Amino acid sequence: MQEIWYVFKDDKLLLCRSSEPRLLTSCDVGALSGLLINKGTVVIGDRDKGKVINEFWGEMAHNAAVPGNMITMGLREVGSAFGEEVFYKAARAFQLMKWYGHHLFCMSCGGRLKPSPFDNGKICPFCGAIFYPPVTPAIIVAVEREGKILLARNANFPPGRYSVIAGFVEPGESFEDAVRREVKEEVSVEVKNIRYFGSQPWPFPHTIMVGFTAQWASGEIKPDGREILDARWFAPDELPDIPSGISISRKLIDHFRQYNI
Ligand SMILES: [Zn+2]
Repeated sequence: MQEIWYVFKDDKLLLCRSSEPRLLTSCDVGALSGLLINKGTVVIGDRDKGKVINEFWGEMAHNAAVPGNMITMGLREVGSAFGEEVFYKAARAFQLMKWYGHHLFCMSCGGRLKPSPFDNGKICPFCGAIFYPPVTPAIIVAVEREGKILLARNANFPPGRYSVIAGFVEPGESFEDAVRREVKEEVSVEVKNIRYFGSQPWPFPHTIMVGFTAQWASGEIKPDGREILDARWFAPDELPDIPSGISISRKLIDHFRQYNI
């Protein structure tokens, strides 16, 4: 079985430069020997002895030159160019690369961690604490009112871009609590009928986006002016510039459009 290598330099994925860019295989990685500062296997769950491992991650030194037969590509572009399946695999490799290469010390006692032989955990040999790769939940919600969708312009978006409301889940909150709080905080609107839509790993840097639909309950839009600069109700045939590609935000907006045109 062919081995695939997800090698990153400055958080971008290395690809082989050919007529169409392609993922690196074990043959290509030979050219990178000496340039990788970290490498490991892409395995999820228990490290059973019988598990077939044919995917690997690697990290190139910041100051190393990318070989002439290779290019680098940001993970979002990888999603657009190669589709969802490759995006998720590259995202998984990216998060493991960050975990193994950058979380080196125990948060309890400061001791240097050792990898667990059983899974992706790390064990502190000094105090016995065990750590696992971080996964941070964030909610994302499409709010509908009388056939229109609530889209907001975040201060970090490119000019003209609008999207659905999103935000991180805080300690002690259910996902539904977080949906209600984020919509209220960002645009002063109350929502009801919150329904699960789907989820998506989003490796920037280690988020799991949990998508919902909801309906407007009360209140008029008032952007918080800090995170959200503008927000409006949009009819399906008059949508502004919205996220492209494979993001769950786009899927939520497409879902709204499908059922409201
Ligand atoms: Zn410790």
